[in-house]
Amino acid sequence: MRKRLHPIHSERVKPFRLVKYFTFSSLILIFAGTIVLSMLNTHWIRSMQFSKSEAYALLLIENLNHQVFMQFILPVGLTFGKIELHNKDQYERMDSVVRSTLHSFKVSMVNIYGTRDIIAYSFSNDLMGMENLGGTSFQNALEGKSSSKLVQKGSFWELFFGVPKEIRIITFAALRAEKPLSPVAGPVLGVVEIEQDLSDDYRGIFRFQMLTLLTVSGVMLMLFLILISVVKRGEGIIQKRAQEQLKLKEQLSRAKHLSSIGEMMAGVSHEIRNPLGIISSSAELLQKKMASEDPMTRIPSIIIEESTRLNNIITDFLNYAKPKVPNLSDCRIEDVIDKNIRFLSTQTDARGYRIHTYLDHGLPIIQADGDMLYQAFLNLFINAMQAMPDGGDIAVWAKTANGSLWIAVEDQGSGISENAMEKLWDPFFTTKDKGTGLGLGIVKNIIEAHQGKVRIDNRTEGGARVSIRLPIQEEI
Ligand code: ADP
Repeated sequence: MRKRLHPIHSERVKPFRLVKYFTFSSLILIFAGTIVLSMLNTHWIRSMQFSKSEAYALLLIENLNHQVFMQFILPVGLTFGKIELHNKDQYERMDSVVRSTLHSFKVSMVNIYGTRDIIAYSFSNDLMGMENLGGTSFQNALEGKSSSKLVQKGSFWELFFGVPKEIRIITFAALRAEKPLSPVAGPVLGVVEIEQDLSDDYRGIFRFQMLTLLTVSGVMLMLFLILISVVKRGEGIIQKRAQEQLKLKEQLSRAKHLSSIGEMMAGVSHEIRNPLGIISSSAELLQKKMASEDPMTRIPSIIIEESTRLNNIITDFLNYAKPKVPNLSDCRIEDVIDKNIRFLSTQTDARGYRIHTYLDHGLPIIQADGDMLYQAFLNLFINAMQAMPDGGDIAVWAKTANGSLWIAVEDQGSGISENAMEKLWDPFFTTKDKGTGLGLGIVKNIIEAHQGKVRIDNRTEGGARVSIRLPIQEEI
């Protein structure tokens, strides 16, 4: 089934498709043009071959004319008084003159006609004495006009493709008396017909034509294949870009959607906070009063706990929806981490967590908002603890490399599933029953507000590692 193209994709593909069609049609046009050119070329070579063969035949006839006149007509006229070729002696003499003259030349047939269109001499005995075979070419030759014609034999297709089984050129020219030492030719004594076999030449021309066509087809095929691979690559790139653009568009619309939700949540959270503060302080008051009357009751402490939890959630919402601009000042990352560990110590001691620190000596002082970084690391420590509900070890690393400060928080929990890894940074994504899905979003906002980068990976030993890179400012 053909995939339906997305509008962005079809928009991008349109000009590309035009170029593709243009290139393919130019290729076909060039190919057709080359074939026509090769046919014209063949036609031109053939007509050149025809004229050359005709000129060659006329030269032979001229030579034959001279030899026949000097070695046959004159001596025979003197010896016998009359030329009669049915006389055996005369015929043999004529035959030897003709054959010695044309010996080693490419001539397949010679006929010499008398002035009344009777064949007086021929290479073929069967033709001797035949009448009226000369036709118009004979008549023209009698009038002094030489002419040539092509005679072809072969099937329809052999003739169509220009490779007849047999092709001959037949030339008719006058046989004249010679006037010694005079450039003017004498009277016409008869007609000479010479036949040359051109089959080999034509086969050579055909082979040349085929070679040209094969070379052109080969080159065209190669160009075609190259073009197809270029087009395929181009289409792949366009498709990839279109998908990227689509993804970006989707991200943008999701971001817009989330930002409007965030704004609404921020407004609502703010409104909840005041009554929540009143509920919490009233519950504390109630707790004190009830302590004397009903020391066993847990109701006020539950109200206080849940209000605190709700307050934390609201704080998360507000932190995420309205990220602060960092208030930069000298900040030692060791102090921030130390403050986190001290704050969490009651929980970590009570629930079996050990936080190990591996902080390089002499870490640089960076320009940062210590409170914001404290908030970010607090979220990471809480996530690490929640990933190990039965307690465990948490490691914090800090070192400098490549002009940056690198901090990593590692736990030994169950790590992150492949499915969760993709959505981890999406706000409100949580796998926890009581989670808000904003913790990592807040961390990301804070680190990026410090021109830093944060990523989360699974450790090969098990558990997750959150790595943070913060820039170290050059000392002035
Ligand atoms: P929340 O903690 O409220 O769920 P977070 O944005 O902090 O929100 O985390 C989103 C999700 O990322 C968590 O629900 C959890 O699935 C996953 N996650 C975060 N930190 C870790 C960690 N250290 N180990 C395993 N999963 C984690």
